[in-house]
Amino acid sequence: MAGIRTGTKLTTVTWEKFDTIYKPGNEVPASGIYKCKNCNREITSNAHPEDNTFPPHNSSSNCKNAEWKAHVLTDTKGNEFINK
Ligand SMILES: [Zn+2]
Repeated sequence: MAGIRTGTKLTTVTWEKFDTIYKPGNEVPASGIYKCKNCNREITSNAHPEDNTFPPHNSSSNCKNAEWKAHVLTDTKGNEFINK
């Protein structure tokens, strides 16, 4: 579960890709926090044109089947998700 600083405000958003599962190497569709549906590990990934693919788990992880689902989107454009 992602942790937030006391007083931080979050908002709910509707996004058709919240239920899409991504594998290592797939393109990151939107910057945010993603959670592996098999082990609950969370990562941050950015939708950047030069560095935008999902990673595998690191070698110390017991989970060998990373399957990422969007958990929290980050407002990287500072526009409250308008035209995301
Ligand atoms: Zn996992």
